[in-house]
Amino acid sequence: TPSTPSHFIRSIIEEDNRTGKWNGRVETRFPPEPNGHLHIGHAKSICLNFGLALDYNGICHLRFDDTNPEKEEQKYVDAIIESVRWLGFDWGEHLYYASDYFDQLYEFAEYLITQNKAYVDSSTADEIRQLRGTLTEPGKNSPYRDRSTTENLDLFRRMRAGEFPDGTHVLRAKIDMASPNINLRDPVLYRIRHVPHQRTGDKWCIYPMYDYTHCISDALERITHSLCTLEFEDHRPLYDWVLDQLSEKIPGHPQQIEFARLNLTYSVMSKRKLIELVENRLVDGWDDPRMNTLIGLRRRGYTPRSIRLFAERIGVSKADSWIDMTVLEDCVREDLNEHAQRRIAVLDPVLLIIDNFAEDQEEICYAPNHPKKPELGKREIHLTKQLYIDRDDFMEIPKKGFFRLAPGAEVRLRYAYIVKCTYLVKDEQGNILEIHCTYDPDTKSGTAGATTRKVRGNIHWLSTTHSHPVEIRLYDRLFNDSHPDTEGKDFKNSLNPDSRKIITGYIEPSLLKAQAEERFQFERHGYFVADRIDTKPNQPVFNRTTSLRNTWVK
Ligand code: ATP
Ligand code: MG
Ligand code: MG
Repeated sequence: TPSTPSHFIRSIIEEDNRTGKWNGRVETRFPPEPNGHLHIGHAKSICLNFGLALDYNGICHLRFDDTNPEKEEQKYVDAIIESVRWLGFDWGEHLYYASDYFDQLYEFAEYLITQNKAYVDSSTADEIRQLRGTLTEPGKNSPYRDRSTTENLDLFRRMRAGEFPDGTHVLRAKIDMASPNINLRDPVLYRIRHVPHQRTGDKWCIYPMYDYTHCISDALERITHSLCTLEFEDHRPLYDWVLDQLSEKIPGHPQQIEFARLNLTYSVMSKRKLIELVENRLVDGWDDPRMNTLIGLRRRGYTPRSIRLFAERIGVSKADSWIDMTVLEDCVREDLNEHAQRRIAVLDPVLLIIDNFAEDQEEICYAPNHPKKPELGKREIHLTKQLYIDRDDFMEIPKKGFFRLAPGAEVRLRYAYIVKCTYLVKDEQGNILEIHCTYDPDTKSGTAGATTRKVRGNIHWLSTTHSHPVEIRLYDRLFNDSHPDTEGKDFKNSLNPDSRKIITGYIEPSLLKAQAEERFQFERHGYFVADRIDTKPNQPVFNRTTSLRNTWVK
């Protein structure tokens, strides 16, 4: 039995299993359109569909919903496959393409014509729109609605044969132009598009519409529970209508179940809008670490586990709601806190000089790789006379509650000694060039003397001769508006100008060997990942995944 929290879809499945509705089968699918890269919203659907299949001993299909050749590309198919795998899911042999069903879909369409359930409409798109009516006004029948079966079949076959230009005819379902549900007012099933398809080449110049294709694909694959987002609730009667008309042809009739889509603050959640960010060069590409695409989150340092944790934590419901960005960030913090090794980096260096340390003196200190996992061991950190510390660990005039370094104050140099700040060296403009201190040799961490004297501040440091400068990218939220994509706003006007800062920071020697995608906690700074594209042997580039705590103050 699943240990994950229950939700209404689980209840439906458990009830179906109890009544034997599907003979215990649970078969779901994730059906992306290959017209862009997946985003965090898709991750919710992936985790839900694949997760249910795992929990109920079922199967989840990966199906490309590729019926729109103008917008779709093979490179997106490949990238989507990689992203779903990266998230940790496996469809086994169940990889499908809606385009594989084009022949069957066509045959079913001819069948609908012979059943007097579909007709060829030769109205223009505008005319069709006008006759469709509105929410308050019923639609009107098209003048072509009563064409004979023979004429319909003839026209439809000639549409397929390429005799007509785009937009001249469509095939429509014959349902009810007066239906209160606009989706049932004779929806278009096929349109003419003289566009080659990435998989079927120029075999077809008519392509089936989503509402017609989707339910049939589900039924052909013997899907049991077809999960989709709430916008499709009004399409369910059409889903069921199509399958009811085809019950002689396809036995199964999957159940469409709607759930609330993920809405996340400080982000835009649609491929079309993410494309705008890329095409307007507002980000560096689909995998820019600030993008909420899965390839962007990956490059940012998010782990598959953290995203699965997020999907579990936000739950599944029927009510639309907003999830705060902090929920996502906390998931990666939680995961990396447990799994990332600790390292030291100084991001904004200022010199600290220990005056009572000899010029050539060197002392080895030991830093644990993980405070809660002693089995991961320790690393050697070299203490020398001249060190880097982070500039904000010093205040010349300490404000109330500041317990780090200040003139006359004492702090512990982490894993080393207590030092006392003695004097400063400044340039003519008053900028601090050097901070001088003395150390107390009786206070080394891990020795008896360390416990005799307590200081409140505990700061990290690196030896200037045992550290290396590297590029570090400090990323923050891409938008500074919690709802950048609300009506009446252009999300492109809400970009956070401080969403990326590129700096040179100093890292401890062990970090030089960081492998692409290796993740660390830089002590007291946050979680960082070696960039998977730009990291070279012995020359890592780090991306900040997130700070240690939520510090968002915009
Ligand atoms: P987009 O507008 O971003 O392109 P889409 O729904 O058109 O989204 P598809 O590729 O058709 O993109 O989506 C594949 C699956 O992912 C669908 O089943 C869809 O319901 C689901 N999905 C897309 N966005 C979200 C979201 N924000 N939350 C949950 N599921 C989503
Ligand atoms: Mg879609
Ligand atoms: Mg869309």
